Amino acid sequence: MRGTLGGPRVLLRRLREVMAEPVSAQERLDKIVVLIAANMVAEVCSVYVLRVDGTLELYATEGLNRQAVHQTVIGANEGLVGLVAREANAVNLSDAHAHPAFSYRPETGEEIYNSFLGVPILRAGNTLGVLVVQNRAQRTYSEEEVEALQTTAMVLAEMIASGELSVLARPGAEPAVRRPMLVTGMPLSEGIALGHVVLHEPRIVITNFIADDMQKEMDRLEEALGTLRSELDSLLTRGDMAAGGEHRDVLEAYRMFAHDRGWTRKLHEAVATGLTAEAAVERVESDTRARMMRQTDPYLRERLHDLDDLAARLLRQLIGKGHAPTKEQLPENAILVARNMGPAALLDYDRSRLRGLVLEEGAPTSHVTIVARALGIAAIGQIENASGFVDTGDAVIVDGITGEMHIRPPPDIENAYKEKVRFRARRQAQYRELRDKPCVTRDGVEIKLLLNAGLLVDLPHVAETGAAGIGLFRTELQFMVAAAFPRTAEQFSLYQSVLDAAGDRSVTFRTLDIGGDKVLPYMRAVEEENPAMGWRAIRLGLDRPGLLRSQMRALLRAASGRTLKVMFPMLTAVEEFDRAKQLLERELTHLRRHGHILPERIDIGAMVEVPSLLFQLDELLERVDFLSIGSNDLVQFLYAADRGNALVADRFDSISVPVMRALRDIFDKSEAAGKPITLCGELASKPLGALALVALGYRSLSLTPSALGPIKSLLMDMDTSKAAAVVRAAISGRMSKTPLRETLAQFAAAEGLQY
Ligand code: PEP
Ligand code: MG
Repeated sequence: MRGTLGGPRVLLRRLREVMAEPVSAQERLDKIVVLIAANMVAEVCSVYVLRVDGTLELYATEGLNRQAVHQTVIGANEGLVGLVAREANAVNLSDAHAHPAFSYRPETGEEIYNSFLGVPILRAGNTLGVLVVQNRAQRTYSEEEVEALQTTAMVLAEMIASGELSVLARPGAEPAVRRPMLVTGMPLSEGIALGHVVLHEPRIVITNFIADDMQKEMDRLEEALGTLRSELDSLLTRGDMAAGGEHRDVLEAYRMFAHDRGWTRKLHEAVATGLTAEAAVERVESDTRARMMRQTDPYLRERLHDLDDLAARLLRQLIGKGHAPTKEQLPENAILVARNMGPAALLDYDRSRLRGLVLEEGAPTSHVTIVARALGIAAIGQIENASGFVDTGDAVIVDGITGEMHIRPPPDIENAYKEKVRFRARRQAQYRELRDKPCVTRDGVEIKLLLNAGLLVDLPHVAETGAAGIGLFRTELQFMVAAAFPRTAEQFSLYQSVLDAAGDRSVTFRTLDIGGDKVLPYMRAVEEENPAMGWRAIRLGLDRPGLLRSQMRALLRAASGRTLKVMFPMLTAVEEFDRAKQLLERELTHLRRHGHILPERIDIGAMVEVPSLLFQLDELLERVDFLSIGSNDLVQFLYAADRGNALVADRFDSISVPVMRALRDIFDKSEAAGKPITLCGELASKPLGALALVALGYRSLSLTPSALGPIKSLLMDMDTSKAAAVVRAAISGRMSKTPLRETLAQFAAAEGLQY
């Protein structure tokens, strides 16, 4: 007889009884395999559990040799069982022997079985083991049978995840579900955090997955789907979403999926196999996640993400659970794990308890990253399936310097990291001691160290680090974290707070630098082949003078009675500077005419970020009050290497002869013209970069806040004239074979500098 005996619902009911019996874990497993084999009319049913070492151990069998249980261990790349685990996909074969991956273990006696059906035991997209049925006859298992076995595997997934099987394991060969893991993503915000996982959108633990009344579950599913759809409909018609923009596109896609026939059919089918509505949603979500992890097409992945998110919403709907834990529920040393989140969501958590952030997505310039950095929270991104690897309360270490995430770390790793944290804390204490000392080198040269900032949360850093002021205030950040264009009054209020907080220290505002990778969700994106070299920064500002003028007005009014320093980003030609300056003057005239108190002094500067300016320096220097070098962009354009592309990011060194020659020429010309110059790109925040810049003559650097201490300590130990001789010699004449970075490192080591 073919097919399942009594159907999957009978099987699930029997399984539920077995799950409730007060028997040992092994007895329970043994009963389960007997039940499945009988129900599926299979001669063999076996459970393989994935172990911490990545191998699969036979935990129970009906039909194969009993002696092989806990003896047979299959490598991750071995046989059909290994294939199922690796691909996280069902393998259904009428003639298993003919499959290229086929191999068998003589001790099991499985060589007499021809047909093979193996399904992964999945939980949140993670493979925990493999469930197999086999028959002597060459039999093709039907779609329904595959479905039924997958549903049954869920019961086993919960059993493995509960830790019940750990008592059956030999030390060091425990089920992989709780194993320590090291995953590497992209560093987003510096710092090291040790703590415990808090899932931003916690996975819902389903306790009841076997339905008593199928019709009731169908009704519950329908009702939840209905609520979900109307929720999305009303979100789309809400005032702040009604206008265009990315938010709306995302919600439109959601809504589309919520009505997707294929998705709802899958949900109904899962309920029809005997699951509760919530278990059915989880089943479908787990499949989606597994598919998502195999998908490499970014567009399709994004769509699968939407589906995954939608399933999570639906699940919360069914269980009636809210979102993130309240502040009171947040543990000390919380490490937030999320697929992605907005900046406001991060700010909702209690900062005093938050230590780290792990995102499955996330990019260096995404809003939440900007906020994490400003809050001083260690953050990493691009950790695929991070929330699937962990459970609430798991110990984790987030290394925001290397991008590593240690999950359930063994004691030696944890101790090593604790030592690292202590070491960093000692260093920080040393830097704090330097806070009120001026930054003067060993040979008596004073260097002005400023900070890069952009949000209100950055302002306390000025006093904390003892910086001489803000050398680059990135005004676009306010625009990037807002839900809509900030009005002039809102801009005015931010700029005024910045100037108030800085007191008598100087602040250099940069006008809006949007476009490129700095996108505003509420501004319709222009499709560009090459956005970094496209319609961005001052180009956009000059084409949309209304935007620029409203910002200039806010700046001029905020600086009334004080000094205003303002500079324009991404200038390519001197004419652009002239036009931007004219706009500022028009605003000034307007304010004067209306009787406003004007700034006491206005300094207008240019950012040098595009190589074309290097050949217009004489003309530029005649016009400006100061220069500021944006080395991030300047190096990107000098080397034609996208600064955000990991494939080319390490290909060219910014501490190299060509870059330093360019920086030398800019410095020498501005010095001769008597115009102040600052460098505000990342280069100044790197020890060898700062050393080289000071050696070239730069006396003003603007740094990221975390770099201020280390750079100050290095410069105070440095002899500028010795460094100048080394650097100037290395970049003059013919280039040496020794890379400049190496020459500088040797010099720093010989001088006993901490670099
Ligand atoms: C730069 O390009 O170096 C710079 C300071 O500007 P941003 O990093 O904001 O583009
Ligand atoms: Mg730039």
